[in-house]
Amino acid sequence: MAEKMRAVVKASPREGAELQQVPIPSIGPDEALVKVAASTVCGTDVHIYQWNEWAQGRIGPRIPQTMGHEFAGTVVEVGKACRRVKTGDFVSAETHIPCMTCVPCLTGQMHICSNLKILGVDCNGSFAEYIAVPELVLWKNDPAIPPEFAAAQEPLGNAVYATLVEPVTARTVLIYGDGPAGLFAVGVARVSGAARVWLVGLSPMRLEIGRQMGADAVFDASKDKVEEFILDQTKGGGVDVVLDMVGRQSVLDQGLRLVRKGGRYSAFGLPDGRLSIDLTNGVIFKGVRLLGINGRLMFETWVQMSNLLASGRLDIRPVITHRLPLEEFAHGFDLLTHEPIQAGKVALML
Ligand SMILES: [Zn+2]
Ligand SMILES: [Zn+2]
Repeated sequence: MAEKMRAVVKASPREGAELQQVPIPSIGPDEALVKVAASTVCGTDVHIYQWNEWAQGRIGPRIPQTMGHEFAGTVVEVGKACRRVKTGDFVSAETHIPCMTCVPCLTGQMHICSNLKILGVDCNGSFAEYIAVPELVLWKNDPAIPPEFAAAQEPLGNAVYATLVEPVTARTVLIYGDGPAGLFAVGVARVSGAARVWLVGLSPMRLEIGRQMGADAVFDASKDKVEEFILDQTKGGGVDVVLDMVGRQSVLDQGLRLVRKGGRYSAFGLPDGRLSIDLTNGVIFKGVRLLGINGRLMFETWVQMSNLLASGRLDIRPVITHRLPLEEFAHGFDLLTHEPIQAGKVALML
């Protein structure tokens, strides 16, 4: 095995990243070394690439660090203490690395571990030929799944958790956000038997993907009359389920107006700062269940996701719009940041 590998490294405290030759990571006893086949680009990677305030605070002290966290690849080496994963396994990873000692971990809520470490954020990531990963978070994939789809299970899992935290069968579902999480959520709600799936976004290109994923109707938030339509379709009562994959004041306000009494509001999208909420009318008097969604249930969400993908019913092909060689990572980031956005999910292929 060569000593060095190609990696996209956040090397300096400014916008951008560099393709570098870095040492192949060595593994600890409870880790596996994975040869990466595909790694998809996430909003988090975009923040690190653009070097926003969050990235400066969180990654600043850690650079140089290899970027990326959504991946799929083949295990090429396992540590002595590994028992579940073996060489040759085709794997992806849950990116939330739990401590297994805190109260959330001990009570089956590892996804919100009090000492959570995140792959590619708190340690070297997957925009590289190899990545070292704790066995605990490796997920064995069906080898029939193409690597770029297997890589996208991390964000797909956000959508599965946000959508299926409570049943959606025969329910009306209103989804805010035409980024990959929202687009995936359309597909998940559709194949899980939602009665109606409506999508609100801002990018005509992505709203068209939403249609392909199975939305009954899509709305451009900048011009379409969403409230009138939803209230008309629901006889004034509102929708059973709102999935907020955006995290913005206008979405929170409208979503809480449009969720029906006794309905559910899944809050997944992260706002830039604090939002205000009409707790009295939007939540308490309506008896709305406002549920915070972080990460994926470990590993219930992964089991559900595997079943949905294996069934062939959930087809995520429309969302994965670009496959680029690792070397073209800068083009990938351009596609995801330059308006109007002309990409769904971008995969870097190795
Ligand atoms: Zn991600
Ligand atoms: Zn923990």
